[in-house]
Amino acid sequence: MARIGFIGLGNMGLPMALNLVKAGHDVAVFDLVESAIAEAVAAGAQAAPSAVGAATDADFVVSMLPAGEHVRALYLDGDTPLFGVLKSGAVAIDSSTIDAATAQAVGAAAVAAGVAFIDAPVSGGTAGAAAGTLSFLCGGSAEDFARVQPVLDVMGKNIFHAGATGAGQIAKACNNMLLSVLMTGTCEALNMGAKAGLDPAVLSEIMRQSSGGNWALNVYNPVPGVMENAPASKGYAGGFMTDLMVKDLGLAMDLSQQLNAPVPMGSQARALYSMHKAKGHGRLDFSSVLTLYADAD
Ligand code: NAD
Repeated sequence: MARIGFIGLGNMGLPMALNLVKAGHDVAVFDLVESAIAEAVAAGAQAAPSAVGAATDADFVVSMLPAGEHVRALYLDGDTPLFGVLKSGAVAIDSSTIDAATAQAVGAAAVAAGVAFIDAPVSGGTAGAAAGTLSFLCGGSAEDFARVQPVLDVMGKNIFHAGATGAGQIAKACNNMLLSVLMTGTCEALNMGAKAGLDPAVLSEIMRQSSGGNWALNVYNPVPGVMENAPASKGYAGGFMTDLMVKDLGLAMDLSQQLNAPVPMGSQARALYSMHKAKGHGRLDFSSVLTLYADAD
């Protein structure tokens, strides 16, 4: 069993760390919020006094932080960067959703420090984190990918190697941009059909079985009552917050500019999600963007 330092015990990080503990790994945890550390300790993790404490002597470090600036500070340019602390041959796994450029800068610094780095953002939300069924989208060398696979297997079901360092973040941005387009398109179609008097459940089933079929219709219908377990049927609570979709679409827009890759559909979806957030719905599940259409008249 490996010695693992886990940094960032938020909505995603805490259940991920607990799955590592359950699998028998020796897990030292750190977060700025003490109650999060206490929860992990109650489940069998060891409390570390700092990120440095969690990383010292670790075979692997997993970070699950809000954004690129936090990841950069942790590994590169904070008071005590972890790349000055990790033992030679250790592997840093960053599962935060951040910009690919930061992941690449952190990856280059890892090489210089004699440690390995994998960017491994996740898909699957808090439910997937708790169930250990996340998808990990990894960027890094094939050799380092093979080394982290057994650790990621404990927290996830589908572990993908997207390519070189940063490729995991690029895959995540592409996927979530497509998801935003599928969800807003599905909302538009369902809202128009409902205004014409069609039963949303019937229309959903028709489109699901036809050429408009997609993930939102299959497992995440945005109309309340159509799918019992979808966030729409629970007041749009839980699921994947609009705030996070807006964050991910910002990363996708930055990428499209850097690459000169046009994303007109993604830009439209971003505008819709930004408007939805500005109306005060940032903490609702992202399928609640349906209300933006339904409230239009
Ligand atoms: P969160 O805000 O709940 O958790 C982040 C945690 O990091 C907090 O507990 C915070 O105290 C801690 N933290 C911040 N700076 C720190 C530091 N310097 N040292 C130690 N701890 C620090 O966020 P989350 O929902 O767990 O998301 C984490 C990451 O995963 C984000 O990048 C997010 O975009 C991504 N993500 C989230 C979801 C989701 O459904 N919540 C899904 C996929 C990806």
